[in-house]
Amino acid sequence: MSQDVISTDTETEYGARGDPMVEVRNLKTYYDDGGLFGGTPVKAVDGVSFDIHQGETLGLVGESGCGKTTLGRTLIQLEDATDGEVKFDGVDITDLSGDDLYEWRRNAQIVFQDPDSSLNDRMTVGEIVREPLDAQDWKTPRERRQRVRELLDTVGLQREHYYRYPHQFSGGQRQRVGIARTLALEPDFIVLDEPVSALDVSVQAEIINLLEELQEEFGLTYLFIAHDLSVVRHICDRVAVMYLGNVMEIGPTEELFTDPSNPYTHALLSAIPEPDPTSDRERILLHGTPPNPRYPPSGCPFSTRCPARIRPEEYRHLDDEIWVALNTLREVLRERERADRSIRERIRERFGGDTRFATIESTYEELFGDLELPADVQSILDRIADHAMNNEESEAIAVFSDEFGSICEGESPEYHSTSPNGHESYCHRHGEDYRSPKDVLGTRFD
Ligand code: SF4
Repeated sequence: MSQDVISTDTETEYGARGDPMVEVRNLKTYYDDGGLFGGTPVKAVDGVSFDIHQGETLGLVGESGCGKTTLGRTLIQLEDATDGEVKFDGVDITDLSGDDLYEWRRNAQIVFQDPDSSLNDRMTVGEIVREPLDAQDWKTPRERRQRVRELLDTVGLQREHYYRYPHQFSGGQRQRVGIARTLALEPDFIVLDEPVSALDVSVQAEIINLLEELQEEFGLTYLFIAHDLSVVRHICDRVAVMYLGNVMEIGPTEELFTDPSNPYTHALLSAIPEPDPTSDRERILLHGTPPNPRYPPSGCPFSTRCPARIRPEEYRHLDDEIWVALNTLREVLRERERADRSIRERIRERFGGDTRFATIESTYEELFGDLELPADVQSILDRIADHAMNNEESEAIAVFSDEFGSICEGESPEYHSTSPNGHESYCHRHGEDYRSPKDVLGTRFD
């Protein structure tokens, strides 16, 4: 499932941008299961493309497990890319190895989420911050010690802290130590992997302010990975929204938060608690959990849960409850197709209901027992049930796709430009034959 290159406007209301510092093209990071015979890999990052410009902060958001941390780690070569390009100042760093990679690593660093586990408790703060300088044999030992003291100053710690140990500090101070270490080799680009989510709310603001000051002072470029959307809205210039290893939408932060384009972004934003008690904004509930990245759906990655999924013409007016039940059945069939017969309980965990040792009849009863089905839908369901009862899940799914499938699960979408500001969305609904996601979902944001 590859995505076309996202075009990147260089002129936006957020100012003219020069050439991109980082160019990511059709990047994939797959993990195999380590088995002797290979097997189906986990598609953690499944063909993403975007640019990051000098001095900007690009936010990366999405549910846990969507691939955002793997993407961040692949950008700085802590994970090997399976395919695609990551160009820094025009050089594809996925091709680097040995001394060239070692030398390049000075340019790109990472701040980890949990300062407790990312700092070695047996080393003094001075040794921790000095370690990258030692590893790169930077200048003389005396100059390194001096550099560490300056860095402690820079991140709001004291020079006297040099000989203290991490456990003598608070969480916020430990994160400052991590940031000082990250800055040691004067990188241009930093991946901030949930840098404040392990901290108390009061300390989060201090660290965010520090990161903003450092960016201003040193002209840093950030990839900011987070699940807290309010922090992202505060700090990022642009935001990319990920789902199942794909970028579903990318655009300027305020525009994306107030006028989202993609159905998945609508759902994500609608889950933010609404501070105004008089607001009538409704939360969009997504059914089920994200699919297994080892077996992503065909077509659009969000097609199994999307509340705006395009229906075939003849079922456009079918009752919503029936449509949701049909889609849940399809997911149950997909799970049955993959699941070992002895682990059917997983289906119950995932979809609720009593499907332990279940026959397909009881699943049907749970899903459709209270619904009045049109005769044509009933007859198709009967055909699907015949296959499912004979353990012919693939055939059952094929009938389902023939009768109820649409372009959403048949074809991968393209990127559509949804504003002149470099705002793009990966969804069929931006094509001229369909109602827009906004019209279908009716959600309003401010
Ligand atoms: S392509 Fe279809 S399934 Fe995917 S986000 Fe758009 S409407 Fe939803």
